[in-house]
Amino acid sequence: MRKVAIYGKGGIGKSTTTQNTVAALAEMGKKVLVVGCDPKADSTRLLLGGLSQKSVLDTIRDEGEDIELEDIRRGGFGSCQCVESGGPEPGVGCAGRGIITSINMLEQLGAYEESEELDYAFYDVLGDVVCGGFAMPIRQGKAQEIYIVCSGEMMAMYAANNICKGIMKFAESGGVRLGGLICNSRNVDNEKEMIEEFAKRLGTKMVHFVPRDNDVQRAEIRKKTVIEWNPEAPQANEYRALARNIDNNEMFVVPKPMEIEELESLLMEFGLLEAVG
Ligand code: ADP
Ligand code: MG
Repeated sequence: MRKVAIYGKGGIGKSTTTQNTVAALAEMGKKVLVVGCDPKADSTRLLLGGLSQKSVLDTIRDEGEDIELEDIRRGGFGSCQCVESGGPEPGVGCAGRGIITSINMLEQLGAYEESEELDYAFYDVLGDVVCGGFAMPIRQGKAQEIYIVCSGEMMAMYAANNICKGIMKFAESGGVRLGGLICNSRNVDNEKEMIEEFAKRLGTKMVHFVPRDNDVQRAEIRKKTVIEWNPEAPQANEYRALARNIDNNEMFVVPKPMEIEELESLLMEFGLLEAVG
């Protein structure tokens, strides 16, 4: 089983991209477990056809520690399995801890022991925080492979660079590696070329350039992935290409984060290309 964690700035498209990729992998016949690691608990909505999932933390709060796997895991599109870690009551406690509790509970209940049957576990992790509980999937080998969702917007690249610093730190003690950058386009000038160059400087590659497309919203309001809502849509093929590239990926690296000055000059270089003409 490959254990994959998806990181990236908040709102960049981690949950959307993860779920569409999982749907494409399911179409290819892969068995996938998705673990939402965001207190918003919206990592599996499109695969489940709504926010019908009761989170691990809510279940533990209501029923105590003595719970069954089937209380916290639900089947979604293409026979994928969905779990939401959930979070503490707003304003109380540490959200990162929810992820630790949740992953430990899944292990205890044997969710991974069926791993002969699972091809992938995907962790969809909140925001750009690489400390404490949010780093949990990449510590102690919970996830071996990281993909960072980013765009050509400065803050998304800045966050991606910071995540690389976290990966570099944990790669020393564990086996975690960066599998690549997923560019989720924001239609920035020269975006594809810039992210390809950014990836190269980090020592990795861009696994796929996912265009910005309103079909994502059209599917989203119907609580579906694009793949389920309209398998013929061009955007569905983009997610299939991304899924294939992840499935075939063999380049796993310890990233080399950039100095902030170097990152800024990269942005200048590609931003100015357009301004100059
Ligand atoms: P995150 O999980 O990183 O916080 P989401 O996956 O929830 O981000 O994405 C935020 C919003 O961006 C989604 O509601 C979705 O409508 C939109 N979005 C994501 N990717 C695309 C895309 N390729 N094209 C159009 N809209 C997108
Ligand atoms: Mg999300």
